[in-house]
Amino acid sequence: METEALPKARHFLPKGRGDRFAFVFTVVMLAVICIFEAFVILPDIYPEYGTMYVVYVCIGAYLYLNTMGNFLMMIYIDITSGSRVLPAILKPGWRYCPMCMQNSPPRSFHCFQCNICIMKRDHHCVFAGKCVGYYNQRYYFVTLIYLTLGALYANYLNFDHAWALLGGINWRSILTMILPFMAWILGFTEKYTFMMSFLCGTCIITFGLFSVLLFWHGDLILKGQTTHEKSVKDKSYDLGWRENVKEALGERWKLVWLSPFISSPLPGDGIEFKKRSGMENIKDM
Ligand SMILES: [Zn+2]
Ligand SMILES: [Zn+2]
Repeated sequence: METEALPKARHFLPKGRGDRFAFVFTVVMLAVICIFEAFVILPDIYPEYGTMYVVYVCIGAYLYLNTMGNFLMMIYIDITSGSRVLPAILKPGWRYCPMCMQNSPPRSFHCFQCNICIMKRDHHCVFAGKCVGYYNQRYYFVTLIYLTLGALYANYLNFDHAWALLGGINWRSILTMILPFMAWILGFTEKYTFMMSFLCGTCIITFGLFSVLLFWHGDLILKGQTTHEKSVKDKSYDLGWRENVKEALGERWKLVWLSPFISSPLPGDGIEFKKRSGMENIKDM
């Protein structure tokens, strides 16, 4: 295993109050769901510490460690231009950022939560309290893969339990699963059922939300676009799917999903970008 010599961010933890809450909520909920699966759900399916139990716990641990590893790496990596000296003259495709008081490279945008310009900025992720940009896109995308897989795995393990607990599909059980707080207040459910419904419901919602995000960002990576470029139908950085994937996940894109510690150098520097047909686009100037 090798680690990439990427610069580390100056601020690790989220700065804003909303971001901090979302970050702590994510970290705590991931840990709670793992404990719930390992000590409540799994012992009901397989005898505790038996072979099958250990196999399922190991699969769950791998999913959890890869989710957290990529999530923390996404926050750890510096996605700004850092100490690199940017040109004083406004080059074609560059724009002046009045907040940073410097010229910003093509595809970079100012983030008002991070309070700095982010290279190849996609969006600000509230769960990480950080933007997704050129250098951390790989970690963000692999986090999405593992969150979706992890939620699918948890839903698979929870299915029989949740079904038995709620007594099949009826309007009370659906309300309990979707709105456990409401069902509890209305007296449709016991405290234990409420807890179970809350955790099972969280796994279902997590799977729904992150599979949509995974599909959206997978499509952006294949097309070599950022969310902003997709919204304005800008395809000028589309170099063909293989090159686009390397631009986002690095040269060793086939291996990045295995572990966040596998090095996968990016072909560019986040400042200059190759364009489709290799020509400068006059419209961007
Ligand atoms: Zn800026
Ligand atoms: Zn940001």
